[in-house]
Amino acid sequence: MTLKVIVVGAGIGGCSAALFLDKIGLDVKLYEAYPSSRDSVLGGGIGLASNGTSTLVLVSRELADDIYSRGHKAAYYEMRDCDGAILGNFAAGREGRYGDYGTVLIRRWDVHDAILREIDRKGLSIAYRKRVVAIEEHKDHVSVSFDDGTTDEADLIVGADGIHSVVRRYVAPSAKEKFSGLVGVGGFIDTKAFDSALVEQLFPSSTPALSSKGAIMTFGPLGFFGLAPNNDKPRDNGGSWMWWSTFEAPERDRDEWRKFNHEESIKELLRRHEKWHEPIPELLTKIDTSQVVPNYDLVGIDKYHTRRIVLLGDAAHTMPPHSGQGISQAVEDAACLAIVLRPFASSDSSDKLDGEQLEMAFKEYQSRRKPRVDAILTAAGKTGDQKREKTAWECFVRKWMMKLLMVLMPERMMDKVYRCQYSPEMFQ
Ligand SMILES: Cc1cc2nc3c(=O)[nH]c(=O)nc-3n(C[C@H](O)[C@H](O)[C@H](O)COP(=O)(O)OP(=O)(O)OC[C@H]3O[C@@H](n4cnc5c(N)ncnc54)[C@H](O)[C@@H]3O)c2cc1C
Repeated sequence: MTLKVIVVGAGIGGCSAALFLDKIGLDVKLYEAYPSSRDSVLGGGIGLASNGTSTLVLVSRELADDIYSRGHKAAYYEMRDCDGAILGNFAAGREGRYGDYGTVLIRRWDVHDAILREIDRKGLSIAYRKRVVAIEEHKDHVSVSFDDGTTDEADLIVGADGIHSVVRRYVAPSAKEKFSGLVGVGGFIDTKAFDSALVEQLFPSSTPALSSKGAIMTFGPLGFFGLAPNNDKPRDNGGSWMWWSTFEAPERDRDEWRKFNHEESIKELLRRHEKWHEPIPELLTKIDTSQVVPNYDLVGIDKYHTRRIVLLGDAAHTMPPHSGQGISQAVEDAACLAIVLRPFASSDSSDKLDGEQLEMAFKEYQSRRKPRVDAILTAAGKTGDQKREKTAWECFVRKWMMKLLMVLMPERMMDKVYRCQYSPEMFQ
């Protein structure tokens, strides 16, 4: 008997879980609340770090190559002060040092689309318009109920249903989403919006591919602004760029966030960045769409699992966008889960399966994953604090701290984050 798994949520985390669990031979069913793949494939520009793509290659090289070819390869990020002065470079996770795949700046849409293609190639399917509203855990199985009145059963559930996870309410009821006080606004802009001489000045074509500038990240008293190509053809017709800003904002409810629409957010950005270095102010007058993403932290999560239910990705540990690790950590979770569940994949052992054995495997998963995730979250919290409003004195201190840090901090200090944690033998 093959172990049957229900994965709740077909975002990037849920799809990665399905691919890794399928790889070790489990019988996986994916359920997604969105009505179709067209509706679910969304989002702004993101950084996909080398550890994420180097983990996905363990599913298939075709998948990793597909993602890697769609993004802009980033060896370092250029840090600037709002007057345009360059403060230094920060290692992004370059190709070569971390294997075949370095960090890329890419549309979230492209990553999700590439993963959905791999789901198709592997013959897996996703049941859409299936919002899980309740789950029940029994001694020998688990069940889910959907908002259309139907139900399904399995040996275990993987909750990959994002920050506002329904599965987490069952697994860790005391964990809460807390607004961080920061909001991200971002989107894309066509290369045509830039003067070609400016593009050449920002990202010189003479720069060798292996040491390519990933993004320009600018800090000032009223927040942060990032600008980067989102593929390797920023100079071509049809090329596009991703931009994003992070700043402090008061808490709003969902309806109020919806009212903070494109016009409102651009007005706010112009107020904050109008005196910053070019091309930021000019670019803001040309942007016609943007996405607003309030940043939530997950607080009070002390466990990722029960006996037969386990959390993964943003449902377990919501990564703020400035971590640059949202997708990579979800993908690492998926790989790790497959490794700890591998002993249950053979038909002999699944006959003897009970909840206690599964719980041991989930404990192992948590003990491997949580310390790494928590360390990345702590570092991301510090990065986020640099994007909050600062007095002139605080800006002065930050500027010199950054300059110093980027001179003194060797690239190897980021090895722990960017290096792939897994290898093919771990799945055998
Ligand atoms: C629309 C969207 C846009 C994003 N944009 C960015 C971005 O611009 N930059 C960035 O850094 N990160 C972004 N992220 C976050 C980033 O994609 C995640 O950190 C990373 O992919 C790990 O996510 P996940 O798969 O764990 O959760 P998610 O990506 O949140 O996926 C969860 C999935 O579960 C589904 N779901 C939720 N509840 C239920 C339910 N009850 N029943 C069934 N299905 C359910 C959701 O519809 C969703 O498809 C975005 C996420 C989303 C959903």
